Amino acid sequence: MQQKPGSKSGGLNRRQFVGGAVLASSATALSASSAVQAASAGAVECKVPGCDYDVVVIGGGFAGVTAARDAQKNGLKTLLVEARNRLGGRTFSADFEGSPIELGGTWIHNTQPFVWAEAQRYGIGVVETPGAVAEIMQAVMPDGTRTRLTPEQVIEAVMGWEAYCAEARDILPRPYDLLHNRDAALEAEKIRATDHLHGLGLTPLQVAFNEAMISVIVNNHAREMSYLEVMRFHLLGGGCFPTFMDSTTRFQVDGGTTRLLNSILQDGGPETRLATPVKSIHDLGEKVVVTTSRGEKITCGAVISTVPMNTINAIDFQPPLPQGVVEAGREGHPGQGIKLYMKVEGDLGNFVSFGAHLPLSYAMTYKQGADYTLVVGFSAGAEELDAYDEEAAQAALRQHIPEAKVLSLMHYDWVNDPYSRGTWATYRPGWVEKYYDQFQQGSGRIFFGSGDHGEGWRGTIDSAIGAGSIAARKASDMLS
Ligand SMILES: Cc1cc2nc3c(=O)[nH]c(=O)nc-3n(C[C@H](O)[C@H](O)[C@H](O)COP(=O)(O)OP(=O)(O)OC[C@H]3O[C@@H](n4cnc5c(N)ncnc54)[C@H](O)[C@@H]3O)c2cc1C
Repeated sequence: MQQKPGSKSGGLNRRQFVGGAVLASSATALSASSAVQAASAGAVECKVPGCDYDVVVIGGGFAGVTAARDAQKNGLKTLLVEARNRLGGRTFSADFEGSPIELGGTWIHNTQPFVWAEAQRYGIGVVETPGAVAEIMQAVMPDGTRTRLTPEQVIEAVMGWEAYCAEARDILPRPYDLLHNRDAALEAEKIRATDHLHGLGLTPLQVAFNEAMISVIVNNHAREMSYLEVMRFHLLGGGCFPTFMDSTTRFQVDGGTTRLLNSILQDGGPETRLATPVKSIHDLGEKVVVTTSRGEKITCGAVISTVPMNTINAIDFQPPLPQGVVEAGREGHPGQGIKLYMKVEGDLGNFVSFGAHLPLSYAMTYKQGADYTLVVGFSAGAEELDAYDEEAAQAALRQHIPEAKVLSLMHYDWVNDPYSRGTWATYRPGWVEKYYDQFQQGSGRIFFGSGDHGEGWRGTIDSAIGAGSIAARKASDMLS
């Protein structure tokens, strides 16, 4: 997380961050300085003879917290083990000079069944992000020209998106069942998202708009995503552009993602250990031995791993992980971009601006203050934008808003964090055929429940909750 060193509000510099896991003083994420945090009040007896716990859940993001809640509520003595000194994983509610922000996962929607159900269950509402229903929509074309879109041009851009996704319902008739139309889906997933831009007769505005949107969805350059993945997002978001946009950038959890995470955790009450990286997970047949980096050995009847795809190879699994999981982890999912908050002087209005191949491919109003605007922007990666450099960020924003004067910055470096090594997960072209069948495969007493491999809204809070709860059900079935 970074506010430019030397800015009035201070913050962590790059060196401080890269050293390891970060707990910023401004963060409102769940944290504890002690290694053991007993969230549990319930005295549940361990059912597996000779073990410390029935279930050990590795990773305290939304997947792990949900899995631990469900396992504990199923009457299993459950331990949640988290490497960082806070829970939340790739969600992180924080404060940016008096404004609540989310450094990681942010937007939820009623098109997302798992997360929406949890918010409803705990009586948590949503707040809106202004830029999702912007009054000003602007395009920056490859030659640098900026166009404030007329209503007709907005329709032109949106129609270009719809044309891009025209085959979606045929290829993915059931977006929660990726291979329902197997041959068509496998064909479409080999195609790079950028290759499908050509031959559709799109206008330059439509090409620029689609490419910028895809770059935001993949959080990288658009070429890193498959055509199938773009259609998956489109369909899950209701199969039309406005609901797709609402699904991905409109509603935030009232009180922050931490509030929702906390509600889930407290409901289950599993025992929780922070600052406890897991080094190895060995399935011995009659029990599993989890070894922490401090050398502590924890025995249990089942393990649920929710460790992110890009970091899973840091753990020694016995028996070894399926080869596809190892290889995908080595290649890494393409979520290698940046989400950057910028506090900007004055009122910029309620805007959204996009431009493929720019350091900031997308920027929008996050909050309109009395004398400032909070802008959130997305970049394809560190080679495009140094998010620690206030001048670079200002230059990048000025390609969208020439008069912008950036006062301060904040972001979190998920890509260099050893416990995430990336932002959100989408699949690269060719991955479904190569790896898909292996992604959710557990073996023996080890179950996988990461949101990076979830069905449906894979790569979101929704899929994390879904994958965590499915893994807990499988572990409970085995132990009961
Ligand atoms: C910048 C950004 C923006 C996003 N925007 C959105 C959005 O708007 N909407 C949305 O729905 N989603 C969004 N996402 C995606 C969403 O946040 C994630 O998909 C989701 O939070 C993943 O949850 P998870 O539990 O599967 O994984 P994680 O949250 O990554 O949790 C895994 C946990 O495992 C821990 N861990 C790793 N290694 C070990 C180890 N060896 N031992 C013990 N613990 C370990 C990690 O510390 C982590 O806490 C965004 C993500 C990012 C980064």
